[in-house]
Amino acid sequence: MPTIPAKTAKSAKTANAAKAARKAATSTKRTARAATADVPALSDAAASRFRRALHAWYRANCRDLPWRETRDPYRILVSELMLQQTQVSRVLDFYARFLERFPDLDTLAAARPHRVMEAWEGLGYYARARNLHALAQHVTTEAQGVIPSDPEALRELPGIGAYTAGAVASFAYEKRAALVDTNVARVLHRVFAPDIAPKSGPGSKVLWAIAERILPRTGKQTWTHNQALMELGALVCGARAPKCGGCPVSKQCRSAHSFE
Ligand code: SF4
Repeated sequence: MPTIPAKTAKSAKTANAAKAARKAATSTKRTARAATADVPALSDAAASRFRRALHAWYRANCRDLPWRETRDPYRILVSELMLQQTQVSRVLDFYARFLERFPDLDTLAAARPHRVMEAWEGLGYYARARNLHALAQHVTTEAQGVIPSDPEALRELPGIGAYTAGAVASFAYEKRAALVDTNVARVLHRVFAPDIAPKSGPGSKVLWAIAERILPRTGKQTWTHNQALMELGALVCGARAPKCGGCPVSKQCRSAHSFE
């Protein structure tokens, strides 16, 4: 068996140790960056420019969707739960049929569980239907039938997370409340913070902080603003092939050139 000279073995060992040290240092740096991910600086003027471009685009390009024609918190809530993990085109029929059968919170609260599940049949993710039913029963018995308008109070209800709380507060009550769903996260990540890991805990906090930072001053404008962010993510800034050429915020977007 050939013998490896002591000097060669030693230098190989040293090279490996150096490589491991470099790897550890890189990993430590990554962890530190993720843990301390800062909210990117954004001036009032830049936030305002972003909003102006986004809102003008939305007014000219938004889709007519039934849940955009109402401020009824029950109807908004039904639409928001149905839209979780489900495409708009698929939700449209279910939404109309469900509301025909359960037109208000009281009717839904009084329904037998299997009737609710029947109306949800085919839409999938059935925990949403169970949560919606439980929520209707809770609100009718414990909250005088009034769906709260405050995001914190909304989050106390069955099946309501941070996104849905922000959606109901802003879309039903026109409250100045931020929201971040998958579409909004993608837009904010690409435009303002391409360096962060958007799915990490710290990254998600940064995206929520950006969403808060760019909110308009009033609740009424917030309705348009949140709808517009979601619409941009759905129609222009898609996950696979963002259409940067026709994007209203491309001048401000830090990722626009990455997709050319
Ligand atoms: S410029 Fe491109 S990446 Fe940036 S928000 Fe618009 S579509 Fe998305």
